[in-house]
Amino acid sequence: PTFRAPASKASANPAYFEDRMRLSRYFLPTLKETPSEAQIVSHRLMLRAGLIRQHAAGIYNWLPLGYRVLRKVEQIVREEQDRAGAQEILMPSIQSADLWRESGRYDDYGKEMLRITDRHDRDMLFGPTHEEVVTDIFRHNVRSYKDLPLNLYQIQWKFRDEVRPRFGVMRGREFLMKDNYSFDLNQEEARKSYNRMFVAYLRTFERMGLKAIPMQADTGPIGGDLSHEFIVLAETGESEVFVDEKLLEKPIPRDVDYGSDLQPIVDDWTSLFAATDEKYDPSQHPAVGEGIVTARGIEVGHIFYFGTKYSGAMGAVVMGPEGDEAPVHMGSYGIGVSRLVGAIIEASHDDNGIIWPEEVAPYTVGLVNLKVSDTEVTAACDDLYAKLNAAGVETLYDDRDERAGAKFADMDLVGVPWQVVIGPKGLKNGVAEVKNRKTGDREEVSLESVVARFA
Ligand code: ATP
Ligand code: MG
Ligand code: MG
Ligand code: MG
Repeated sequence: PTFRAPASKASANPAYFEDRMRLSRYFLPTLKETPSEAQIVSHRLMLRAGLIRQHAAGIYNWLPLGYRVLRKVEQIVREEQDRAGAQEILMPSIQSADLWRESGRYDDYGKEMLRITDRHDRDMLFGPTHEEVVTDIFRHNVRSYKDLPLNLYQIQWKFRDEVRPRFGVMRGREFLMKDNYSFDLNQEEARKSYNRMFVAYLRTFERMGLKAIPMQADTGPIGGDLSHEFIVLAETGESEVFVDEKLLEKPIPRDVDYGSDLQPIVDDWTSLFAATDEKYDPSQHPAVGEGIVTARGIEVGHIFYFGTKYSGAMGAVVMGPEGDEAPVHMGSYGIGVSRLVGAIIEASHDDNGIIWPEEVAPYTVGLVNLKVSDTEVTAACDDLYAKLNAAGVETLYDDRDERAGAKFADMDLVGVPWQVVIGPKGLKNGVAEVKNRKTGDREEVSLESVVARFA
């Protein structure tokens, strides 16, 4: 059958969805036992459902099912960046220390930076972030204000030698980040770039089924109010947060025109109080109880305007309209792509396993053959599987010769949003059972109409 991507999905990039799979041949090493090293539920479930395996402290292998989810998360991030006008590039993961000496951060960065020496005794490092590299690109290639605004992003592995890597991919040492960097002539223009990212972030996290709230963050010596952390509330979060409860219900802006003035949207969100404990001061800010709730949260994104900090130090200047040269104004914006996979599970699971939101689910449908030895059942399942594939419905087909109980448990564990179950009894009546993983609701659906439900 020819492959057709589902028309309803904005993220229908065929390259991402072609590896449909029969479970009998799928590399899916699930675990029955709860791994003792995992302290939080997302880490436990990622190990149990065969998404990841640890290679070394804070360094992970992504197995087929997990890697599929990672790519889906990545693709949503990419689409929302593109929509907001950022352009994708790829910078090196290994960087030259010289650039960091220019910016003055080589000594400051401390032990989180993994330092490497090459065979010629040159100091290199594994990039924990890319301000220096992108500023270097800019200073060699952009001259005039006419080339601004410019916003470049990448989705790239970072390495930070965290003191306490833990919670699986939530605090890894090697982790996947979307990072971008905006370049503008002055602060007023930079604020517009900042606002575009602010709104793009709201939309990005919502598409993954997450409620991420922008919270005031430290601006350090830069000052001002242009730094926000996007935080998903979760009991296992590492930060304590203080949030106006009205923010928890606030609808995410849709159909955003990124060419328009986004300040009203940003004002709407930032006029209500939200901050982590680092910024919360009970003597100055609204008290807990009076509309403010306190909770724990996971930092999934961070946006920051830092002006001419790096451009000044590294000589990244642009010619203004009057012919005068001045350092370009920059901002940087990060999203923890691999951390998000854990955060999504923290937000969406039950005692039986993961419950994937549809947009990031590794597969939309889990097709369960209840009796592989029954040739009629198997023929019906094979037929339905072929039709689902032909219709572009991403399907994980459990064609293993296993007990029904084990199959149900595995499907629940891996969290595919819809289970379609075919057994001898149903087949006699020409029906499959369709189960919604999230609600547990079951429904009998005629075999002919199954595909239409998902296509
Ligand atoms: P944290 O406070 O959790 O240490 P950070 O403030 O140091 O994060 P940033 O420099 O703001 O991180 O990086 C951008 C994003 O990268 C963060 O918002 C987070 O989602 C992600 N991130 C940072 N460190 C890690 C890590 N060790 N493992 C996984 N994701 C990370
Ligand atoms: Mg950190
Ligand atoms: Mg932080
Ligand atoms: Mg941060």
